[in-house]
Amino acid sequence: MKRHRNVKIVATLGPASSTYEMIRALSEAGADVFRLNMSHGDHAEIGARHALIRQVEADLGSPIGILADLQGPKLRVGTFANGEEELVEGQEFRLDLDDAPGDATRVRLPHKEIFDALEPGSSLLVNDGKIRLKVKECGANFANCIVTVGGVISNRKGVNVPDVVLPLAALSEKDRKDLEFVCNLGVDWLALSFVQRPADVIEARELAKGRAAILSKIEKPAAVKSFDEILAVSDGIMVARGDLGVEMPVQAVPPIQKQLVRKCRAAAKPVIVATQMLESMIESPMPTRAEVSDVATAIYEGADAIMLSAESAAGKYPVEAVTTMSNVAAEVERDPTYRDVIEASRKAKRTSTADGIVAAAREIAETTDIKAIACVTQSGTTALLVARERPRVPIIALTMVQATARRLCLTWGTNCFIIAPVNRFKGAVLASIRAANAGDFAEPQDLIVVIAGVPFNTPGSTNILRVAPCEERLIFASEPE
Ligand code: ATP
Ligand code: MG
Ligand code: MG
Repeated sequence: MKRHRNVKIVATLGPASSTYEMIRALSEAGADVFRLNMSHGDHAEIGARHALIRQVEADLGSPIGILADLQGPKLRVGTFANGEEELVEGQEFRLDLDDAPGDATRVRLPHKEIFDALEPGSSLLVNDGKIRLKVKECGANFANCIVTVGGVISNRKGVNVPDVVLPLAALSEKDRKDLEFVCNLGVDWLALSFVQRPADVIEARELAKGRAAILSKIEKPAAVKSFDEILAVSDGIMVARGDLGVEMPVQAVPPIQKQLVRKCRAAAKPVIVATQMLESMIESPMPTRAEVSDVATAIYEGADAIMLSAESAAGKYPVEAVTTMSNVAAEVERDPTYRDVIEASRKAKRTSTADGIVAAAREIAETTDIKAIACVTQSGTTALLVARERPRVPIIALTMVQATARRLCLTWGTNCFIIAPVNRFKGAVLASIRAANAGDFAEPQDLIVVIAGVPFNTPGSTNILRVAPCEERLIFASEPE
């Protein structure tokens, strides 16, 4: 589907967005990738959502990315008899290991290791820090707390204990089971929560065995510190501002976001900016000015993708939230300042022939009237390199590999098409102009740039650039084999 913007939109699915109609409406409104949060919903629900996404993908005839987000060692409360309770400042509230559903006085916190580590005076932060509890007394299986900041607490809300170091493995038993389940279902991206070191990413990659690309969520101070090493072993990054803003001072988040986005772009790896982007749209059809500005900032910074969490998973206005993001993106990307900023921050280290070819493709597209840059890509690497250049014209990525097309749904500006195998450059040119015409990127009298690597099937072999007319007749007449 041709989009009138380059930044991609990730929408989390949940109770508010799990019907065929809703997933289709979100896709048509602009969602490029759907996120399945393994923290919420059992395997049957996740499997059902996955099947609906693939059905929508088949019906709309254009690749859709699926990102499965593993819970990681995230601490969460259990469930409540009424689904939620209001906690009032000054009241007592107990956390314990009891299986019984929670009420206004207590709830289960199914993590024995927290009770071992807590001390009187420790703070507990619930729901991305919105609710605060202070421990009054505690034992091996309980903590009696005072509510210092009240609010509504509901099923399975996250808990952070910022002043206590917890001995937690990167992938829990549940994560391993979830990983196997979603890899067998067929997801394109696996997001790892609470990554702390490169070894965490390598461990997940070994378990995934190539079935999904690996995206590291940066939400721990340790991950910020070792970011370069983590980026080196990851296929993509999420700036997970929810937990990051609890684990670190909240004012540290914007500079970190800026630095991470730039580093990811330089490394040609997709980066998602996530959490609370349009938070007020959970309840309201209109975003706040500050939220619109936040979405715009992420786009000006050059993020590959922006994400909706509860807005699309559990909010009242999922489609409106996607439409809002899409409209903000179209407006920002029309602004000449956006081009200036994006071009000023282009900092690619060019070391290979492929780097040179993609830079040349962009320069040609900027010099003359070229309608699109098309590339034939197997692993997706060439398309990632073209996207890193952030060209002014659309990027058309042609691939024979369905998984590549789906993964590239997360990458800035990339329009993916699945093509029949080609083994000559002429075939690549023909496939490119057909996609350009079919996707409404060009008319027969227009020119596009086509790049590819010969021999095909050799990753990183990009070595041909051709300025091609979009008329098949001319290609048949002129193109050498
Ligand atoms: P994470 O740390 O992985 O982001 P989260 O709890 O913040 O976990 P999000 O996916 O960001 O989860 O969604 C935000 C909120 O939306 C959740 O806290 C939950 O209330 C609701 N939600 C999201 N997905 C679901 C779901 N599948 N079922 C029930 N509620 C959901
Ligand atoms: Mg999180
Ligand atoms: Mg969240």
